[in-house]
Amino acid sequence: MCGIFGVRGQADAVGLTKLGLYSLQHRGQESAGIVAVDERGDARGVRSMGLVSEMPSPQLEALHGTMAIGHTRYSTAGSSSIENAQPMLVSSRGGHISLAHNGNLTNAGELRVELEEHGSIFASSMDSEVIVHRLARSSALKPEERLADALRGVEGAYSILIVLGDTLIAARDPRGWRPLVMGRLDGAPVFGSETCALDIVGAHYERDIEAGEIFAVDADGERSIFPFEKKELKRCVFEHVYFARPDSRIFGGSVDRARRALGHRLAQECPAPGAELVFSVPDSSNSAAIGFAEESGLPYELALIRNHYVGRTFIQPTQATRDAKVRLKYNAVREVLQGKRVVMVDDSIVRGTTTRGLVQLVRAAGAAEVHMRVSSAPVTGPCYYGIDTPSRDELIAANHTLEEIRTSLGVDSLGYLSLDGMLQSVPGGPHGFCHACFSGDYPTPPPTDPDKLRYGCGC
Ligand code: AMP
Repeated sequence: MCGIFGVRGQADAVGLTKLGLYSLQHRGQESAGIVAVDERGDARGVRSMGLVSEMPSPQLEALHGTMAIGHTRYSTAGSSSIENAQPMLVSSRGGHISLAHNGNLTNAGELRVELEEHGSIFASSMDSEVIVHRLARSSALKPEERLADALRGVEGAYSILIVLGDTLIAARDPRGWRPLVMGRLDGAPVFGSETCALDIVGAHYERDIEAGEIFAVDADGERSIFPFEKKELKRCVFEHVYFARPDSRIFGGSVDRARRALGHRLAQECPAPGAELVFSVPDSSNSAAIGFAEESGLPYELALIRNHYVGRTFIQPTQATRDAKVRLKYNAVREVLQGKRVVMVDDSIVRGTTTRGLVQLVRAAGAAEVHMRVSSAPVTGPCYYGIDTPSRDELIAANHTLEEIRTSLGVDSLGYLSLDGMLQSVPGGPHGFCHACFSGDYPTPPPTDPDKLRYGCGC
């Protein structure tokens, strides 16, 4: 997954973009980058591995411009390299092209082979690069039409920001998998993956970039086109469940409200009679656990404390380091747990490693009973549209019954939210969401080589 941000018509476009990226850091910690276009029309960029705060100051200070786009990239197995950091910046016969992409293209492999057969040379292993090559080939006159040309035949998920000469373009695939919002700051448009990125720069939210829309802004003004056949909406439900920040609005709804509703519904579907308190696995399940507490009437407690200076457990490459990382990242509060029958709420179980480690911590801190409640349905399949989920054989719920999972996690009871309950709880549901990783209902044919996609994906 990734975070993208862009502005045009701002004296300090670089400073604003850096701020925007700070608030999208949760969407990607592998690399960060900014490309800016200065008063003379020259485009330059800085890309570095690691966090936004780790971007090299001297290079950043040398970046100037009134238009900029930025990107934070989510870590995916095996593809952590500077060549895959974004925004990409290339020069072509029509001038510079820069791209920041969130999502995964499902037919990038085929498109790449086709381009290579015509002589294209690729500089990265990212799916996103095919869009840049196709843009360079289009001979359409208007920038937005060049992008429409480039995207015709591209399948899968993309929320993208593109700089093409003096034009800033924002676009979303026709199924609208990934969020992309537009705000205004002093009359000029600001774009970001989530509204928290608008808040930090003081822009007010205007609207979402719509599924299938290409929105362009330059010296000639603002233009919006919908060049593709309309498709059924497939917004990613996991954005509401886990990925986005609770202070954001995405897909026209509040993430906090979505997670609370998921928690309410979870308490209705899977109550825990006899339990004395409820706590969350911080931070992503805080709102859902509050929802569970509101609905069940149980007190909400802080029983797990998260160390914010340790990265996500999920991205650790081996099982052994993942296990140790659970203890590095979380500790239990004995005074809250001692002798208590407790409900532990998490937003999702993927491999099960985190839960297993946490249950051991919670029991070691004296909990008498541990009742695990999950505010999403069981994850049974990989995502091909931008969330980094492991292959099916590593997904605990793809290969085990509920009772086997319960035993393996070491909990007294286990309850997942139903697929229906999940879809009915999110704003704008139950229709218009992609739930392929929970239901196996993939809106596009899976990529021919999913491993390659995983290795080479943009985000
Ligand atoms: P696991 O140990 O594999 O079951 O990981 C589950 C934990 O990781 C949960 O606490 C989730 O909040 C979190 N999580 C779920 N999906 C992802 C993801 N795609 N990337 C990173 N963390 C995730």
